[in-house]
Amino acid sequence: MMEDEVKRIQRTGTCRYCHQQRFVEVPEDADEEEINDTATEECDCEEALQEKERQQKIEAAQTWAGNVFTPGPQLDTVMSAIRAVAERKVESVTIKILKRTWTIDKDANGMIRIRMTYKDTNEETF
Ligand SMILES: [Zn+2]
Repeated sequence: MMEDEVKRIQRTGTCRYCHQQRFVEVPEDADEEEINDTATEECDCEEALQEKERQQKIEAAQTWAGNVFTPGPQLDTVMSAIRAVAERKVESVTIKILKRTWTIDKDANGMIRIRMTYKDTNEETF
């Protein structure tokens, strides 16, 4: 059976940040947004590089989270919290799971920071 591969073609895309145009190779059926996304990814202007760095940080944090949290609602919540904080949509997110409290925010250097505090207090009520 033949491989069902999408043909790739050369198109002109525009970087979202510096508006520079460049040739990019995209699937034949790519729409303008995809073409511009690719052009932005491949651009080497400062903002495009910052965005690339941000995506790498998100990936690294999410890979870490994938090893720490239980797949399902817990992991999904952490994943979207990481993205929201990295993209500055929210300042910080606090997630409580049993005795652990996770706080996801950004430190002064713009790094994604995930802190965990473990609370172990005993309380008796009668
Ligand atoms: Zn650019």
